[in-house]
Amino acid sequence: MVNENNEFKIDPWSSSNIDDEDIERLVKEFGIERIGEHIRQKVIDNRFIRRKIIFGHRSLNDVFKAIDSKQHWAVMSGIKPSGPFHLGTLTTALEIVEFQKMGAKAYYCIADIEGWEDNGISYEEAENDAIDNLADILALGLDSNPENSYIWRQSKEPIVKDVCFKVGRLVTQAMVNAIYGEKPFGLYLAALIQVGDIVLPQVMDGSQPTIVPVGIDQDPHLRLTRDLTERYYKTFFKPGATYHRLLPGLDGSDKMSKRNPNSYFTFNEPLESIEKKLKGALTGGRRNKKEQQELGGEPQKCMIYKILMYHFEPDDKILAEEFEGCVKGELLCGEHKKTCIERVLKFIKEHQAKKEKLIDKSREILGIQ
Ligand code: SF4
Repeated sequence: MVNENNEFKIDPWSSSNIDDEDIERLVKEFGIERIGEHIRQKVIDNRFIRRKIIFGHRSLNDVFKAIDSKQHWAVMSGIKPSGPFHLGTLTTALEIVEFQKMGAKAYYCIADIEGWEDNGISYEEAENDAIDNLADILALGLDSNPENSYIWRQSKEPIVKDVCFKVGRLVTQAMVNAIYGEKPFGLYLAALIQVGDIVLPQVMDGSQPTIVPVGIDQDPHLRLTRDLTERYYKTFFKPGATYHRLLPGLDGSDKMSKRNPNSYFTFNEPLESIEKKLKGALTGGRRNKKEQQELGGEPQKCMIYKILMYHFEPDDKILAEEFEGCVKGELLCGEHKKTCIERVLKFIKEHQAKKEKLIDKSREILGIQ
């Protein structure tokens, strides 16, 4: 988005989403590559790529080369422990699990330093959310076997701090201003800590392609990391990324954000509360049944449609039929919402049961009593 000085900037700490025009500029000005048909065919099982929710990447070809030559490669991501999982955080978590299934070793960080710098949450206060968040991703299928994954808290991991201090020498005020604009110093520090997170797989286990699945709003961190990796760790691969469009808030706001309670429900909420929020979600429906049948709905604006597309309708054909049915006024919001709510509640119920059994394991992995 364009700031007051008419410069195009993304702010990874703001709540703004990015539209199609911004994506076009990212591709042109910052060198993000679009996911072309040849990549889509290679990972056709990945519904986020198939449905163009993941629309762009950096250095994904390094990963395919590693797969073809049976070399090791990594997927790295993490979560800021500032609240429970929601549908927005689910996207990244599923991407990590998906890449791990494709053969990557998964590196997952609990970003508690960022939680402190961005939200003022102390490391101790963050512990319960850290346990909870890790149990969520374990319940979603992350394999925590040490051969297949490494999980850490930023505040306890010497490698990330060490990298932060080392590369910090190469960072100037002009660089961080150009990438992030003027921010509290702690956020610059948190950005350098993230550089540490992203290169940790290569510091720990040797040079290897690393892919970081992120929402497009996180690209500034990737640009900084790639630049510093290239200059400081000359034998390392420049870390790559896949970029997904952020799921907007239930109320149609830019994204599901902990800063806007109307925009999301958490995975820990009572089912009745989730149901109520979904019933009130923004749709692309008309004022009444007659208008809907005459004019058709607008699925592209509809949160019910988007939630199904991102997470709860596995069949592309059915999704396409529903889109068409909506546009033609044959599908009505009441019945469509009902289907969506049933699926979401079923998922949450099963997820909560799985997760409960993984809390102790999560505690143990994080070394929290
Ligand atoms: S029919 Fe479904 S997709 Fe269309 S606007 Fe209503 S809820 Fe959304």
